[in-house]
Amino acid sequence: MDNLTYCVACGWGKGSASLLEIKQQEAKHGDYVCINCEEFFESIINAAKDEAIAINKGYGLPCEALITDNNIYYFDGPIIEDPKKDSLGFGGCWFLITKKYGEIRKVMVTNNLWRDRRVPAAYRIKLQQAGRIDSIVVGIERQELAKCKTLLNSIPYLQQEV
Ligand SMILES: [Zn+2]
Repeated sequence: MDNLTYCVACGWGKGSASLLEIKQQEAKHGDYVCINCEEFFESIINAAKDEAIAINKGYGLPCEALITDNNIYYFDGPIIEDPKKDSLGFGGCWFLITKKYGEIRKVMVTNNLWRDRRVPAAYRIKLQQAGRIDSIVVGIERQELAKCKTLLNSIPYLQQEV
């Protein structure tokens, strides 16, 4: 029988947390949010307005974060990887992303998106209040993406480089 308490953000169990710590975190956030995740979300909320949030995945360079109201994702930017490449995020599924960079909203496509952690309900509200939710991430079928490309390519003024 599994009666462990897992952090609602990162999914880690209580192995490294005491019962007291779990109770304290639950009292603070309504759910068990581990200390690491708490620090992570607080660092986003308290970051300078123009500071780019990056995810340190433990190897290589830090990745750009995408903060949605449900999940924190990360990626290497709008780069299309070879679909046959090993270890693509979400198995190489395609995603449309819109992200605000200050006053500019960019639309991007990737087939190498990774999820960092869930956004707990309590932090969803705090991130919204701090104006930190910057992205919308939508999964899209390859065929739908191809139709979209065909439609866009049929519009002459979109064929010119901006
Ligand atoms: Zn956690």
